[in-house]
Amino acid sequence: MKDLALDIRVEKAQQSRINEVDFNNITFGKTMSDHMFVADYRDGKWQDLRIVPYNSFSLSPATSSLHYGQSIFEGLKAFRNVQNPEEVLVFRPQENAKRLNVSAERICMPSIPEEIVMAGLHKLLEIDKDWVPSTPDSSLYIRPFMFATDEFLGMRPSETYTFAIITAPAGAYYSKALNVKVEKEFSRTAPGGTGFAKVAGNYAASLLPAKLAAQQGYDQLLWTDAKEHKYIEESGTMNVMFDIDGTFVTAPTIPVEDTILRSITRLTVIELIEDMGHKVEERHISVDEVIESIKNGKMRGAFGIGTAVTIAPFAKIANDGIDYELPADYTFSTELKAKFQGIQKGEIEDTK
Ligand code: PMP
Repeated sequence: MKDLALDIRVEKAQQSRINEVDFNNITFGKTMSDHMFVADYRDGKWQDLRIVPYNSFSLSPATSSLHYGQSIFEGLKAFRNVQNPEEVLVFRPQENAKRLNVSAERICMPSIPEEIVMAGLHKLLEIDKDWVPSTPDSSLYIRPFMFATDEFLGMRPSETYTFAIITAPAGAYYSKALNVKVEKEFSRTAPGGTGFAKVAGNYAASLLPAKLAAQQGYDQLLWTDAKEHKYIEESGTMNVMFDIDGTFVTAPTIPVEDTILRSITRLTVIELIEDMGHKVEERHISVDEVIESIKNGKMRGAFGIGTAVTIAPFAKIANDGIDYELPADYTFSTELKAKFQGIQKGEIEDTK
């Protein structure tokens, strides 16, 4: 990442907490690095850009985001370059900065200049570089987020906001193939809603159905369209890809559908699959087509795609109370994951 010259004040932590961390046994999301980047939106502009020791925010009980949910976030990862462990690599962070602003616009928040996001991230990673793990399959998870801060209970867009970036070391995510359930009762979003945005409320809406599915023994849900529950949209916090007879099918995102979050990982996965000589189709795919393809042996494999998991193969898809097994000998997703991670860690050149 290039060094960006923006005025960022730095206040360093008096004592690092890094020695308290067992990097061989990381519980995701529990331990944050020493510092955070913060910027405030006041009087119509972003100001007071700063890196400060990781600490609590002090919030009024009337803080508007707590009541009306004007809150958005992003998620991305930093790795050490395998060729040069001193160098920290972040995979296409500009894409996350862009998506953050897509989310901001949808729920009436101000956009934040990409340069501020990038400069804050760069500086934070420079200062907390030692927190980027070097153990295999691990990374430093980066969480940019923005929330409304007006102390006001009236229902209107807030006039003030805070943007922050915190980071947390992360180990490997799902290790086994997932059992997923086609969800036909609940919806995480609907046409005209906020599904294409990374809005906090979308995640709240998904908690109950995910909990019910977990009680039935499933790892994740396969969301279907809110109108008819006929078409597959995405799975948990992943986009989905089906390998039907060597053609890779994935549901369309914006501008075609506004109910699916456009995965940044998927952008690259599509490029990789095409580079490997296969066809990718971004089109609606029905539950019936998926089940039929499993039954007639055309479904070679299916997998979820996202920052947390990279590529997570599915073992079973449950529909209307019946579990359908996917071929256990599917190796393509493993190959794809290795390629993708090779790029993230600097082993394979990112040509784009
Ligand atoms: N869909 C949803 C609903 C998500 O929350 C995520 C995670 N951001 C994804 C898909 C995957 O997106 P990405 O590859 O950008 O992590």
